[in-house]
Amino acid sequence: MAVLDILQDWREEGSILHRKTVRIRKVDRRIRRLLNDMVETMREAGGVGLAAPQVGRNLSALVVEYADTDEDPDAVPELYKILNPQIVRTRGEVEGREGCLSVPGFLVDVDRAERITVKGMDADGKAIRIKADGWLARIFQHEIDHLNGILMMDRANRLYTVEEGEDGEPVVTPIGAGHEETEATAGTVAVTN
Ligand SMILES: [Zn+2]
Repeated sequence: MAVLDILQDWREEGSILHRKTVRIRKVDRRIRRLLNDMVETMREAGGVGLAAPQVGRNLSALVVEYADTDEDPDAVPELYKILNPQIVRTRGEVEGREGCLSVPGFLVDVDRAERITVKGMDADGKAIRIKADGWLARIFQHEIDHLNGILMMDRANRLYTVEEGEDGEPVVTPIGAGHEETEATAGTVAVTN
């Protein structure tokens, strides 16, 4: 396995981050290797999800690793490797704060479906169907957006910069005027994908 470079050129119009990805027809060694490299890259970066365009590959592939430790402090992170994922069902809507490994230094508040059903293919080429809610559902939606060339900024209700403060704690500052309502989303967790 190898740690790949994560693209952060989201300001460039021609970036692969803005392109819709190509469906994977057949799972071969090359695809399995890409998925494993993406897992290693995600872990190295301390993220909870990563999509192929973020490592410069225009393919419909994502990895997610997340444990809901708010629900269960002993929860073990579950690893997903999904090809050609599609959201086939959604329920509810909830706002939460997200970060992105390709957009460092920013956080956004984004509305996402509360529960989703995702259809796709696993690393063995088998059809899979996953039901997710809460933060896991949010992470999937963020990653599937990447596969369609959509970044979190494209959906942002509010935008924040995040910098490391003198005490090492992150300092989150709203961008623009009239955004004093940051407390409204207090209690949400910033997730980096
Ligand atoms: Zn992202």
